[in-house]
Amino acid sequence: MELLRRKILEEGKGIGDDIVKADMFLNHRIDTELLFAMGEAWAEEFRGEKPELVLTVESSGIALAVAAAHALGDIPVVFAKKSASIVQNEETVQTPVYSFTHKTQNLIRVEKKYLPEGARVLIVDDFLADGQAAHGLMDLCRQRQAKVVGIGIAIEKGFEPGGRKLRESGVHLKSLAIVDGIRDGKIILRADDD
Ligand code: 5GP
Repeated sequence: MELLRRKILEEGKGIGDDIVKADMFLNHRIDTELLFAMGEAWAEEFRGEKPELVLTVESSGIALAVAAAHALGDIPVVFAKKSASIVQNEETVQTPVYSFTHKTQNLIRVEKKYLPEGARVLIVDDFLADGQAAHGLMDLCRQRQAKVVGIGIAIEKGFEPGGRKLRESGVHLKSLAIVDGIRDGKIILRADDD
């Protein structure tokens, strides 16, 4: 997606050889023109899958999920909450997710009533790296027998294995930009396939 690619190149920062900082437009300050354009792009990609809700994980995914859900005709957004608690609650489903950025393991959880059995779910998140967050969200859906009809990602790190593995397993995945690497602080983008 051209606008996102431009933002990454002009305002993103490469940290070391594997972290993309997108604080200027995605993770701290949010560029709302970009946000709603991303929502439209995911809606165009996934409308045919007829999602009934958009699922993400707090906190950076929420705005993105709202933009997608609005563009899909104002379907609901459900965001998994992160907690350190290991208390199992009958009303919730939970699963462990290792956080790439914080190097910690969190539990993510959703109240069962917000993720109904059989629901058609579109998962949305800001970054895809190893795929831990995506797999955690897919696991919550599996526990609820909800159907993941697609995964929409803003920035995929193409040099990490998450995207390849998801595509190989047949998941309908749409990443709006793919970073192929970081060299001397400069972000290298994959050519757009649109
Ligand atoms: P994964 O679970 O796929 O390994 O990593 C995805 C999650 O980690 C995303 O939810 C995102 O919050 C975070 N993440 C992974 N890599 C990066 C990165 O390079 N930059 C930022 N800002 N977040 C990242």
